[in-house]
Amino acid sequence: MTSFARWLALLVLCLAALPGWALAQSASQPLTVHFFDVGQGDAALVISPTGKTVLIDGGPPEARAHLEKRLRELVQGPLDLVILTHPHLDHLGGLSNVLRTVGARRFMDPGFDHPSEAYRDLLNVVGDEVGQVMTPVPNPQEPRTLLSIGLGDGAALTVLWPRVPEDPFLTGTRSDPNSNSIVAKLTYGKTAFLFTGDAEPDTEATLLRKDIDFTSTVLKVAHHGGRHSSTAAFLAAVKPQAAVISVGAKNDYGHPTSEVLGRLRAEKAEVFRTDLDGEVVATSDGTAVAVRAEKRGGPSLLVAGEVKPGPVAQGPITRGTRKTSAPRGRSASSTDSESDTPQRATGEPRYFSLKGSKVFHKESCKTLKRSKSNRTEYASRAEAMRERRPAEDCHP
Ligand SMILES: [Zn+2]
Ligand SMILES: [Zn+2]
Repeated sequence: MTSFARWLALLVLCLAALPGWALAQSASQPLTVHFFDVGQGDAALVISPTGKTVLIDGGPPEARAHLEKRLRELVQGPLDLVILTHPHLDHLGGLSNVLRTVGARRFMDPGFDHPSEAYRDLLNVVGDEVGQVMTPVPNPQEPRTLLSIGLGDGAALTVLWPRVPEDPFLTGTRSDPNSNSIVAKLTYGKTAFLFTGDAEPDTEATLLRKDIDFTSTVLKVAHHGGRHSSTAAFLAAVKPQAAVISVGAKNDYGHPTSEVLGRLRAEKAEVFRTDLDGEVVATSDGTAVAVRAEKRGGPSLLVAGEVKPGPVAQGPITRGTRKTSAPRGRSASSTDSESDTPQRATGEPRYFSLKGSKVFHKESCKTLKRSKSNRTEYASRAEAMRERRPAEDCHP
């Protein structure tokens, strides 16, 4: 036994002697989700049992400083993944700042185009600061499987929606950006969390037609408790025991609505609201979830996990991450060439940079395609190298 191993064994013995250790030991380390109090908007941080961090949405611009403060308190090093559920300001307002100050290894959004300046600016920051940019596009080899991201110790985040090009984006809905929100299920042992962004009834109806196990211990309620979302049929499928509504006090939208609160009550879900309860923290040991709220006294709510083990949907859900995916606004059939560089007629690849950015991209790069900023073309890679560094998303 090396001295390090001996030291480790001793440490484990010491920890084992502490009260509470036996509880945590059942499923190794806990998985924690912080639903931050960011006012009218969404921002939640997942910390996996092995310490992997995923930020889902970045709140409204007003909460930028608060979000950065909380992340600095909870996260060491860059975030492993930042997910923007959809390109609305109350979900992306603090993200550029987070990417610059805390940093992120990967960024994922639905890939649904949105012509707002805030979203354009964010994509430029993503291009500069994030190594890998992705959308939850199905693997062409396994089109029926869902993108699932392993977070260590059996915890996984599976993206249920969107599924472009396998299923086209929803259009002609109350709000297409909302309807194409990333919906993801985080599973750990018998417990699960469902993140819904601002999903609309169309999203819920589309999902309900699929062979997916929606059962979740904790539901992040869609669209801040807006009355159209969280339909009775969807809630019946999710069967949440606790529901978190991320919402601002006295907001202009009347969120959360009495209709949704009533439907959650009918499902017997205990409701937590960031406007009344402050930050809500849910901790899972793989068998049960303890939910506590910053401004609520008394003990944590403890709910047993009743999620069946096994995959969230049929088929293996093991696709890893990819560097590029469906470019915005292109037809579904154009997405197979994911990592190929389209060649110019002359056979020479083309290189571009975006205004204000320190990096250059391949012509096929998704970041480039997403951005409407002015671009500069270089005569050759060598010329590009003289002025910029290669982007980490497309490795030109
Ligand atoms: Zn929203
Ligand atoms: Zn929205």
